[in-house]
Amino acid sequence: MKIFDTTELDFKDVLIKPKRSYINSRSEVDITREYKFKWCPRKISGTGVIVANMATVGTFEIAKHMMQHKMFTCLHKHYPLEDLIKFITENDCRDYVFLSMGLRDEDYKKIETILTQYPDKCRNICIDVPNAYIPKVKELVIKMREKFPDILLMVGNAVTAELTEDLILSGADIIKCGIGGGSACITRRITGVGRPQLSTIFECADTAHGIGGMICSDGGVVYTGDICKAFGAGADFVMMGGFYAGCDEAEGETIEKIILTDEIDPDTKERKSEIKKYKVFYGMSSEYAQNKHYNGMPNYRASEGRLLKVPSKGPIDKLNQEILGGLRSFMTYVGARRLKDVSKCTTFYRVNTQLNTVFEN
Ligand code: 5GP
Repeated sequence: MKIFDTTELDFKDVLIKPKRSYINSRSEVDITREYKFKWCPRKISGTGVIVANMATVGTFEIAKHMMQHKMFTCLHKHYPLEDLIKFITENDCRDYVFLSMGLRDEDYKKIETILTQYPDKCRNICIDVPNAYIPKVKELVIKMREKFPDILLMVGNAVTAELTEDLILSGADIIKCGIGGGSACITRRITGVGRPQLSTIFECADTAHGIGGMICSDGGVVYTGDICKAFGAGADFVMMGGFYAGCDEAEGETIEKIILTDEIDPDTKERKSEIKKYKVFYGMSSEYAQNKHYNGMPNYRASEGRLLKVPSKGPIDKLNQEILGGLRSFMTYVGARRLKDVSKCTTFYRVNTQLNTVFEN
């Protein structure tokens, strides 16, 4: 029996130290960077925020909004081939959209068709398997890199240096890192497996950068400050699902609930009510997802995701402004003029309390 006895950290366990800065205004910072990859010869200029390939947010509609800010979207893998072709031929997807695949033959066939028949459209691929530690993932990475040497290849999910290194050396450009930290995920509850996200980023980014690769921190962003912490810790990209789940443009049913407020109606002397809106959001390994996108839950699997209703958050553009504004301010606080420099400029405090929640209920 073994135990790693150092303290593993999550976003909530740290805050960022402000530093003397020569930047006077938030407008002086550059929140895009030019990404150069280990294997893919293409360069991309962007802000490394990525919407997760979850069914209600990894959508065409969301991708159109993200592109406008040079931010990315990983499309979910349940779109039929014809819909993907229509989207990639009608929109400029070269840089800011990833197509997802799992290990199933039909996923491979779909991606192969797009890469061979539409070679100048979308060549960013994400191999997404909840547990990338199984040998089939590495085999697929090797095969994809051999067959399509110029693709931008993201692969996940990993949380350790060994797998990060192994997959990059096998042909991945970006390793998607994070297990168990997602908002709709119950892997930690069901299996006991996982790793706190900040420590995952530290270790995997250090390893990836040492051999010319990159990482995408995946899961666990609750506040925009967590995106800053992820970049500050060394992530090149930050992926989010739940953060976007409540925006108007997300798919999924809207639920309305009538809530009693604390205000009294002067006429009726009753408490006033208001309508609160929620959106349905679900983990891609949840029983709900298995029933919706496959033929139900195979009996050898346990559900590792859940079905949630998340409060409505308004238009996606508002959320993106919040993210971009938060990033600019963070960079000003740590004195980083360019997004590429933030990890060099960031120092963390370990804290017991992150936020003052006195007025939250
Ligand atoms: P969030 O930003 O919502 O905290 O996390 C998004 C990430 O959660 C996704 O990119 C994916 O890696 C992970 N995820 C999505 N659905 C499930 C699920 O059903 N089970 C698990 N274990 N992880 C999930």
